[in-house]
Amino acid sequence: MQFIDLQYQQKRIHERLMENIARVLSHGQYIMGPEIRELEAKLGEYVGIKHAVSCSSGTDALLMALMALGVGKGDAVFTTPFTFVATAEVISLLGATPVFVDIDPVTFNIDPDRLKEAIDAFEKGNASRHPLPRGFERLTPKGIIPVDLFGQPADYDCINAMAAAKGLFVLEDAAQSFGAEYHGAKACSLAGMAATSFFPAKPLGCYGDAGMVFTDSDELADRLESIRVHGKGTDKYDNIRIGINGRCDTLQAAILLAKFEIFPEEIELRQEVARRYTQVLGESGQVACPHVTAGSKSAWAQYSLVTEHRDAILEAMKKEKIPSAIYYPKPLHVQGAYQYLAYAPGDFPVSQRAAQGIFSVPMHPYLAEQDQETICRAILGACRKG
Ligand SMILES: *Cc1c(COP(=O)(O)O)cnc(C)c1O
Repeated sequence: MQFIDLQYQQKRIHERLMENIARVLSHGQYIMGPEIRELEAKLGEYVGIKHAVSCSSGTDALLMALMALGVGKGDAVFTTPFTFVATAEVISLLGATPVFVDIDPVTFNIDPDRLKEAIDAFEKGNASRHPLPRGFERLTPKGIIPVDLFGQPADYDCINAMAAAKGLFVLEDAAQSFGAEYHGAKACSLAGMAATSFFPAKPLGCYGDAGMVFTDSDELADRLESIRVHGKGTDKYDNIRIGINGRCDTLQAAILLAKFEIFPEEIELRQEVARRYTQVLGESGQVACPHVTAGSKSAWAQYSLVTEHRDAILEAMKKEKIPSAIYYPKPLHVQGAYQYLAYAPGDFPVSQRAAQGIFSVPMHPYLAEQDQETICRAILGACRKG
């Protein structure tokens, strides 16, 4: 059994994959070949956003978005401590400061009530209202990066309204949520800008690293295209700003084009797999199943459970050779890299508790019903013993 089975999918689309790869080898435009624009047009249309700018990874998508927004030294950017480190890392890389805000215990996404407290605390210059990082007195709030954790969109109605009232940007970290929906709109279209990842294990993954930035703004899209190629102006030897080498390989775009053909179907298959898990595990009362908010659809990047019996369950799964993972064992505010912000371990209790009890089980569109039964049996057996 595999945690994420990419082999089965590859068999399904083998012919189209080979055709697409062969076409790139034949035209030889390995950098910014025609597949790049084709992919950008297709995914932009799917998401319902005017500009889709492909790039080298999900991390670079976030970085390029922040660069286009002009984030830098002295800026505070609100985000969650319960995410992959890349979300906060890009803020730090630009000399800005991540300001952590605790998560909602049910969705694991940034909690809008806590976010409001954090913004208030900044305005009043009062860290007793909400934990703030060291040196916050010298920072100006600039924006918010909500994360669509495990594939479920954050609460954008609340977040966007708050941001608009305070003049903050919102950048959707949709690395895990490509294909998800929120009130009828697709993930990657839920904020002023969005960044996604095509890392192989993500809902839409390539065979290497790639990512994409989405925006309806012509001006931001122009900046993104420039930043992607070393801050180019009229051409790449005319450099009008500091940029990066942030391009997506043509080969990866060709692979993504083949995978995208079956992607909508795969999103539906993921719903089915999730429904089967919840049916068996939810009834048991032994583990807390993921809850998708009314009006939302998850891309099910992960199916994550919370329990008091984690050690026993992981041990039982290991014995049965069932792969598992913990996303995330350590919230960012207690990571070594973020000690300079001087947060206290107890500052974000919901994230802390989630990190202690959460684990993820195999999740992919082709997970067999029989395998799911084996997984559920191992989990529930361990709970009864624990
Ligand atoms: C995977 C991921 C990223 C980074 O994407 P890469 O393509 O691996 O650089 C950023 N944020 C979140 C929430 C992720 O899960």
